[in-house]
Amino acid sequence: LALAACSGSGAGTTTTSAAPATNSAAPAAGGLIGVAMPTETSSRWIADGKAVKSGLEGLGYKVDLEYAGDDIPTQSQQIDKMILNGAKVLIIAAIDGTALSTQLDAAAKAGIKVIAYDRLIRDSANVDFYVSFDNYKVGVQQATSLLVGLGLLKEDGSKGTATGPFNIELFAGSLDDNNAAFFFNGAVDTLKPYIDAKTLVVKSGQTAIEQVATLRWDQATAQARMDNLLTSTYADGTKVDGVLSPYDGISRGIITSLQNGGYKGTVGNGFPVVTGQDSEIDSVKLIADGVQFSSIFKDTRKLAEQAVTATQAYLTGKEPVANDTKSYNNGVKVVPSFLLQSDIVYKDTITPLLVDSGYWTAAEVASGV
Ligand code: BGC
Repeated sequence: LALAACSGSGAGTTTTSAAPATNSAAPAAGGLIGVAMPTETSSRWIADGKAVKSGLEGLGYKVDLEYAGDDIPTQSQQIDKMILNGAKVLIIAAIDGTALSTQLDAAAKAGIKVIAYDRLIRDSANVDFYVSFDNYKVGVQQATSLLVGLGLLKEDGSKGTATGPFNIELFAGSLDDNNAAFFFNGAVDTLKPYIDAKTLVVKSGQTAIEQVATLRWDQATAQARMDNLLTSTYADGTKVDGVLSPYDGISRGIITSLQNGGYKGTVGNGFPVVTGQDSEIDSVKLIADGVQFSSIFKDTRKLAEQAVTATQAYLTGKEPVANDTKSYNNGVKVVPSFLLQSDIVYKDTITPLLVDSGYWTAAEVASGV
């Protein structure tokens, strides 16, 4: 993997520990910043971690970047240690958004600011800022791409020529991740008129988020559920036409299950429409090959840049600038947020969105690594 990791500064290989001359306008910075990321099994979090680290190091901060292997106690311990070591700001992408109250209480007592990174931390007053995307809209985009793949809509949003009915199945992410419900709600609100009109049929009848969730966004878990659906619901020879998937790893599990179940070829030639998210390189290659239909591009470089900007604001005595102060209530308060926009990746938008922006090279897209 050679994902461009830093926010456009081209400094991915330098190990600057002092503020470079180009940042001379910035006030003197320094000190330790704790960056807690969930897992290295997904390339997006690796890219996020690298980009946040290099951005902060470029401003003269020391960075403790930790990955927790998707294990909740490990993440709690990592954050405990960051607090003990005197971190000035914590940037946290939580595994379980409800499991960090003890850590956040300790951080608040020590005067440490907490930035929730991409995933909102819930049930605590001690979350100071949130950087993420418009996650409801991500779900709308996922469902829109499913409708496009089925021919019910065109890529420009106008009505397509297909009439259906189509058999679809729904997948959601991990219920302990605040984003999962936002994605699912955005998607289901978009699909509902078609389901009500019986143009789309969720043949398994599994439409509640609790029935379709995927613990820890795990690929193998998704593959096993798709296997079960094929046996329980499609053994009579009816075909799956489309699957709403919230994340590329889940999509790859679904695709493997479908292939094992006898679905061959490409979308439009017998293979069901499968959506995704994150534009991970293995899935981008599947999209280029016509096997996965779509993904969502969330530019992790821009997200990292917002986390770095917010950190710098706190440590220079300012409040970070929010562009949304109503969408994200964490159960205790509305957390001021900076939300970025996402794009739908189709086969024909890989180049303009991902290659031209330098996110992936054409060679990476061609090889899938
Ligand atoms: C992120 C998604 C990601 C998912 C699984 C969510 O919190 O917003 O981008 O696909 O976690 O890692």
